[in-house]
Amino acid sequence: MAEARTTDQAIFDQDQPAFRIGHGYDLHRLEPLEPEGRGRPLVVGGVSLDHDRGPAGHSDADVLLHAVTDALLGALGLPDIGQLFPDDDPRHESADSAIFVTEALSRVQAAGWTVANLDTTVVLERPKLGPHKADIRANIADLLRVTLDRVNMKAKTHEAVDAVGEGRAIETHAVVLLMRKS
Ligand code: MG
Repeated sequence: MAEARTTDQAIFDQDQPAFRIGHGYDLHRLEPLEPEGRGRPLVVGGVSLDHDRGPAGHSDADVLLHAVTDALLGALGLPDIGQLFPDDDPRHESADSAIFVTEALSRVQAAGWTVANLDTTVVLERPKLGPHKADIRANIADLLRVTLDRVNMKAKTHEAVDAVGEGRAIETHAVVLLMRKS
């Protein structure tokens, strides 16, 4: 005999989860800046960093915003950033990657979700990210339209090993938790 569901049972009902988690990862080569190489000016989380190398890429190659976008899309079970915004689409040439986050967020909201919190890690040998952490967090919080306490960014080096540690690449990870809009 069917029993009436309690609120707790509804929360844990597989068909109607109260939360969804999403993970995003990205890596871009760091090259000498144009015209010597193919490096674009280094932008991380919407913040410009002074460096003699920059990421190769089709858009502005903001590797942190790309991981955040993929985390949001992943939480919804949607195709990834490369499928939704192909890198051979001339509309995205040199595009501000904030537009990818904004588009992913609009999909989150349209599906009835809101961002509970976002945690990110940037792995970069140089330059030091510490002095820019507050600006990066604030920028991403603005993009996600959440308060600062819901966005975190950790900065690591790669201990001088492999491509990231040798300054030839930048790597990012992002995990986002979505909750149902009340
Ligand atoms: Mg990317």
